[in-house]
Amino acid sequence: MSYDLISAPPINPETKPFWDAAEQGKFLIRRCPACGEAHWYPRTICPLCHKADTHWEESPGTGTIYSWTHMRKCPRGPFALAYLELDEGPRVYVQFRPEDNESLEIGKRAQIMFHPVKDGATMMFAKLI
Ligand SMILES: [Zn+2]
Repeated sequence: MSYDLISAPPINPETKPFWDAAEQGKFLIRRCPACGEAHWYPRTICPLCHKADTHWEESPGTGTIYSWTHMRKCPRGPFALAYLELDEGPRVYVQFRPEDNESLEIGKRAQIMFHPVKDGATMMFAKLI
């Protein structure tokens, strides 16, 4: 898989702060002040208690692989997708960087990272740590 074959993510006013931080290598999640829980994907209304006004929080992006799959046949080359259970609790569906594809196992530690993709955009991936 080549990073140059991955398209830029869609950006809207609700997700723009996330992608602005991503360009600086920072991973943001949202936390709800009403119930205190973090959630993924980032959204203004808490999916757990339905209160509005969640806030951004920087996360180290570390967690444990909950589940994964390796797609070996794809026009753009093999790639691996996983649910990474963040230390804050939410599970993030994320593509792993290609060099980790053959080493993934449930329970291994991993971290969110960012890498340039097609058209100079920034995309979120995960790497083993
Ligand atoms: Zn909540």
